[in-house]
Amino acid sequence: MGHPSIFLRTAGCNFLCGGYQAAEAYDGTEYENQTRAMAEKMGEGDANWVCDTIAEWMDGEGREVAELYEEWDENGFLDKIEDGSHIVLTGGEPLLHQDAITSFLDYVEAQGYDPFVEVETNASIYPSEDFRSHVDQYNLSPKLSNSGLKEDLRYNPEIIEQYVKDFTGTQDEANTDFKFVVGSTEDWREIESQFLDRFDIPRENTFLMPAGADQEELGLTREDVADLAINNSVKFTERLQIVIWDEATGV
Ligand code: SF4
Repeated sequence: MGHPSIFLRTAGCNFLCGGYQAAEAYDGTEYENQTRAMAEKMGEGDANWVCDTIAEWMDGEGREVAELYEEWDENGFLDKIEDGSHIVLTGGEPLLHQDAITSFLDYVEAQGYDPFVEVETNASIYPSEDFRSHVDQYNLSPKLSNSGLKEDLRYNPEIIEQYVKDFTGTQDEANTDFKFVVGSTEDWREIESQFLDRFDIPRENTFLMPAGADQEELGLTREDVADLAINNSVKFTERLQIVIWDEATGV
């Protein structure tokens, strides 16, 4: 956290975190039909948080690989990568576009750059070998029942198993961390039984992040989640962007 980074945010997600609550939040907007249709397909139960990037990933513009590279060059992003900024692949769900991203990273590396690449994913898709060859850090954020999503959609034990092999050193060199969005202290039981205990996930690779789409919401959950992390010997992570810029995007 806090490391200078270039975010490559891809359009589209295979989840709609917040389920029916997310659809309600977008009633009366240009995304009403899309969010309602996704909630009908994916929603189950009550959510205690809603994805805060829906408006960012619902739309997107396509780019050819060379075109995106030129854009990054013009914006000085390649200079920043040379100075040590990370590339953070995020979305939506970036692994829906893993072939296109792989082509872009191949292109960047062919021009002589060697970026440190992080990927933020909901851990429902395991990436190809070509994609994995570019990644230095996985930030996995599997969703809990507090996301208001159907269990068979959000909980993917076989895929988590695959990622957890990264800890053994038998697979990739990349580091892998788990990050859980926590809206209430009740969420801990599920994190521990369905993830940490079941897959033997090390506590030092486990982060709790308070739910909250703006500074006001974050203020309501932050302290409880920090206490939960301290009491259970896992790490706490802040929503630094919201703390500094509140709801502003593109910063
Ligand atoms: S997986 Fe991530 S991007 Fe997709 S809806 Fe959930 S929080 Fe938003």
